Amino acid sequence: MASKDSSKPGVEHRDPQYFGYYAMLQHQQNMLQDTVRTSTYRSSILLNGPKCFQGKTVMDVGAGSGILSYFAVQAGADKVYAVEASGMAKKMKKLVDSADEKHNPFLSNKIKVVNAKIEDPDLDIPKVDTIISEPIGVLLFHERMLESYIHARDMYLKPGGAMFPSSGSIFLAPFTDATLWTETMAKARFWEQPSFYGIDLTSLYKDARDEMFGMPVVGHFDPRNLIATPTVIDAYNVDFATVTIPELQDLVMPFEWTAGYTGLMHGVAGWFNLEFAPPDKDIGTTVFMSTSPAADRTHWQQVRFLFREPLAVNATQKIKGWMRAIINDMRSYTIYVEVSLQDDVTDPSKLDRATFGDPQKEDGNALRRRGRWELHEQTYNYSFTPGLMPDHKPEYSCLYEPEGQLGIAHMDEAAAGATPSAMDIQVMDEYEGFVN
Ligand code: SAH
Repeated sequence: MASKDSSKPGVEHRDPQYFGYYAMLQHQQNMLQDTVRTSTYRSSILLNGPKCFQGKTVMDVGAGSGILSYFAVQAGADKVYAVEASGMAKKMKKLVDSADEKHNPFLSNKIKVVNAKIEDPDLDIPKVDTIISEPIGVLLFHERMLESYIHARDMYLKPGGAMFPSSGSIFLAPFTDATLWTETMAKARFWEQPSFYGIDLTSLYKDARDEMFGMPVVGHFDPRNLIATPTVIDAYNVDFATVTIPELQDLVMPFEWTAGYTGLMHGVAGWFNLEFAPPDKDIGTTVFMSTSPAADRTHWQQVRFLFREPLAVNATQKIKGWMRAIINDMRSYTIYVEVSLQDDVTDPSKLDRATFGDPQKEDGNALRRRGRWELHEQTYNYSFTPGLMPDHKPEYSCLYEPEGQLGIAHMDEAAAGATPSAMDIQVMDEYEGFVN
């Protein structure tokens, strides 16, 4: 029987579904075809080849199809331990074993496929110079694979070794979206019918509303729907070299935004950036990737947490609060959010998990909103096509810009300025010539 060790994810009962999903080529393909993701990883590995891969021992945590391991060999790795728990390990081995003069000759004798969970004890893997992994889920931490990445660091990385990615930043921002809110409400209102085929459904209306608004909405949205644009300074940073597993299991992210427009705030949006930096940032190349609504679409998209009741904000007003994300046993997190227009923000460490966000138990403060969501109960919204409305003005989405210099920079400019493209490369010093 699995022991209840708090340093482990504690989600073993989800493993059959989770690893069953990743055992399928179509799901690996979906990630491989995210060109922002795959080419960012490839750039970060090849550009740091001289310092972090050439002649080195590498571990790929959750290798899947093996793509990152192949990149590591292309970058000059001597030996790569490709650890994969799912049945995909056998398919990866098929590809690795097929290496000969005709097919992938460069792969011969370079990769050792290890079909195991990284948490399994006594794996026959030495300490490595570099760890590569793609342990990222929606809002960075969904799926709880970051804990496995950190476990790999603690067990197998040599002191001062490299980690790609090296850090992640979570961005939160207030958004307006009357259409999304109304569609969500319309789903709940179905249960308000007093005579559906002669049956009164109204006793389930409250549960329906709880359920519909409790589902995080995953999808790419129009960055012009943001009421304030967070900057890198506002981001909540997770440094993979130093973060501990307990820290990853309970994240407290305070925020303070200044409304750029007058309008209705329908909830909080979230996304992340990834940084791929060598241990010594002065030698090598730092590569960034953004999943912001203003950047190119990725398969992670963004996530939005809808309030059950919108909050009216005025341009220049301060919007304060926090998000607290606590692990659940569904390979995900329960998300708690408090937002206030006053200075009465409560202490997130005093959160009462049983009652927080329950409208029946809330105090009815008109200038405050609270909510709770299960991050794994996602619903999808793909209604936005980037570039569709180039002349869009804020008032088209019911945001009203203050006159004069009161407001902040126009949102789409501000958002675009923060993230000019999904991938951004900073080449440092001596390896500048390595870009091919
Ligand atoms: N590295 C591949 C796959 C990334 S998806 C790529 O970049 O395309 C994450 C992979 O990690 C999945 O294939 C999943 O089965 C595997 N995985 C997740 N948790 C793991 C763990 N604890 N031990 C080993 N593999 C794991």
